[in-house]
Amino acid sequence: MSGDGDIVDLFVIGGGVNGAGIARDAAGRGLSVILCEKDDLAEGTSSRSGKLVHGGLRYLEYYEFRLVREALIEREVLLESAPHIIWPMRFVLPHSPDDRPAWLVRIGLFLYDHLGGRKRLPPTRTLNLRTAPEGAPIKDAFMRGFEYSDCWVDDARLVVINALDAAERGAKVFTRTACTAARRDKGLWSVEMRDGRTGVKTTVRAKALINAAGPWVNDVVNRVAGQNSKRNVRLVKGSHIVVPKFWEGRQAYLVQNNDKRVIFINPYQNDLALIGTTDIPYEGRPEDVAAEESEIDYLIKAINRYFKRGLTRGDVV
Ligand SMILES: Cc1cc2nc3c(=O)[nH]c(=O)nc-3n(C[C@H](O)[C@H](O)[C@H](O)COP(=O)(O)OP(=O)(O)OC[C@H]3O[C@@H](n4cnc5c(N)ncnc54)[C@H](O)[C@@H]3O)c2cc1C
Repeated sequence: MSGDGDIVDLFVIGGGVNGAGIARDAAGRGLSVILCEKDDLAEGTSSRSGKLVHGGLRYLEYYEFRLVREALIEREVLLESAPHIIWPMRFVLPHSPDDRPAWLVRIGLFLYDHLGGRKRLPPTRTLNLRTAPEGAPIKDAFMRGFEYSDCWVDDARLVVINALDAAERGAKVFTRTACTAARRDKGLWSVEMRDGRTGVKTTVRAKALINAAGPWVNDVVNRVAGQNSKRNVRLVKGSHIVVPKFWEGRQAYLVQNNDKRVIFINPYQNDLALIGTTDIPYEGRPEDVAAEESEIDYLIKAINRYFKRGLTRGDVV
């Protein structure tokens, strides 16, 4: 703690990638930190992500050069610091002239290769999908493709090692412990947490409070902190489907959909493929979220436009 009795510098609500990362960063800067997570670390969105450490190739189209550059630089940092859970992956992008012209894709990939000080990952190359083995699962109508680098990560472990490192730097990390109330009191936050196993409630005072509750962010603002904020966060759902892997090799694929969105088709575990995402507004409770039938159909349709395999609903695991 900070030496002011039971006052901590920072109280973090939520043990996802944001909460754990913030706790680690703050503890590393010498701040006293408490993190509480109502379930287990990474039990929320952070174990259900696309599992990529990437710069966000598609954001270049929206002129988000700075965002992409920062993400690419961070990709190198992460690859350097946690190579046991983050590894390079090649992505094959079959070119579809109907969606984006080849020159635009080429410029995007050139920038992607050069914006972020890429050191360890191989550069982009052009593929003849008729002759390259990576083109074998792709329909004959798609003759040309591009292959570029990004990284795959074990997302839940990334959260856990951040939380462990935060704890090693002095942070107190409580799992199965919900933050149940937070109020301003004499210039500080008075924060109540409840141990889900024993039911015991503890109150601590904190100089700053971080709401890293992911999709529960509104619940923390409204119910836990008792605020009537007008700035409601809009939730968006991005669903994946898992199917048996239907191509040879370790590469992933990225396809452009008719609606200009891109869909990732990534090798997952040993013999599965993780396909996603959708992107639709969501208004329900975070714990009730599930892929809708229409989302599954949307993903299957996008895949079947490009791949010979012809996925059906029966393939979805
Ligand atoms: C490796 C990785 C790669 C990613 N790649 C992408 C990407 O390419 N593109 C993209 O857009 N996003 C990406 N994401 C982001 C991801 O999909 C989510 O946006 C992200 O995981 C959200 O993290 P979070 O910590 O904010 O929320 P969560 O992981 O949902 O964590 C919030 C936590 O708060 C806890 N909580 C809620 N209420 C309370 C309470 N009252 N008291 C205590 N605890 C509470 C929940 O139980 C939950 O564990 C990636 C994430 C990871 C980890």
